Amino acid sequence: MTAEAARNSRDPAGGLAPGLYIVASPIGNLGDLSPRAAAILRAADLIACEDTRVTATLLRAAGSNRPMLRFDDHRSRALVPELVQRMASQAVALVSDAGTPLVSDPGHDLVRAARAAGIPVTTAPGPCAAIAALSIAGLPSDRFFFAGFLPSRAAARDAAIAALVAVPGTLIFHETAPRLAATLAALALHLGDRPAAIARELTKRHEEVVTGRLSELAARYAGAPPRGEIVLLVGPGEAGPSTDDEIDAALRRALGSMPPGRAAASVAAAFGRPRGPLYARALALATEAEGLPPDGKAA
Ligand code: SAM
Repeated sequence: MTAEAARNSRDPAGGLAPGLYIVASPIGNLGDLSPRAAAILRAADLIACEDTRVTATLLRAAGSNRPMLRFDDHRSRALVPELVQRMASQAVALVSDAGTPLVSDPGHDLVRAARAAGIPVTTAPGPCAAIAALSIAGLPSDRFFFAGFLPSRAAARDAAIAALVAVPGTLIFHETAPRLAATLAALALHLGDRPAAIARELTKRHEEVVTGRLSELAARYAGAPPRGEIVLLVGPGEAGPSTDDEIDAALRRALGSMPPGRAAASVAAAFGRPRGPLYARALALATEAEGLPPDGKAA
């Protein structure tokens, strides 16, 4: 059975052709379940899902009574061999709680193993929060980089952000409400004060997109985390040489929370400048801020 035959979905007996079906599901509005996705969910021999209670609601909407198997982050690896074996003769659909499987959700091991075993793998594409957010945020969409969830520990988060400085496109993150303000502040610090957007509760009653500079959004949400699910988008760094005043402003912001060496490294990465001269400038600004003359010696 080829992937093309699987896409056409029906075997001669009228069921779904054996293989793996990656099925996207709504991210809030059940009306976004595609007719083809619903048909696959009605005909599959087995539906692998993260949470059977969540998927039970989806199956009701699709008119499906097919059996479910829990396939979450903890169990997924152990279940892969058994599922791949079943796919030789059965149609297995994979869904996540919401959106497109494998996008910050389980499934990568399963797709890789199915491909390695020569099993047809096909997709019923559909909702994806990151792409939905990009499509309405008003930030450049010709090039983008999906960065998933940032690490929760500050040092690992900052290192992950620093690694994204030179990406020439819009950055897309999944984020949680309680961490939003701190993440926005860290992004402003390491990437510069770029334009950004918070896309919240997409396709639901309280859908909204709030745009602004990273520092403005950090101030807006500090102490007042928004409710619901969030995609955070950050526009690309602005082209063109930066002025000394902009560099000084970025160094001052960075010095508010880190020593001169780290501040210089962070600003150098954000502005594509060599670190050495920025370190000297960071030391001068730190000294100035302490009220000492530039030579660092008290009068
Ligand atoms: N695979 C999913 C997809 O394709 O959209 C993403 C799963 S990930 C575990 C869950 C994250 O997606 C949430 O924390 C949030 O960042 C984002 N998300 C999901 N639904 C959303 C919605 N309706 N509005 C905004 N963000 C959403």
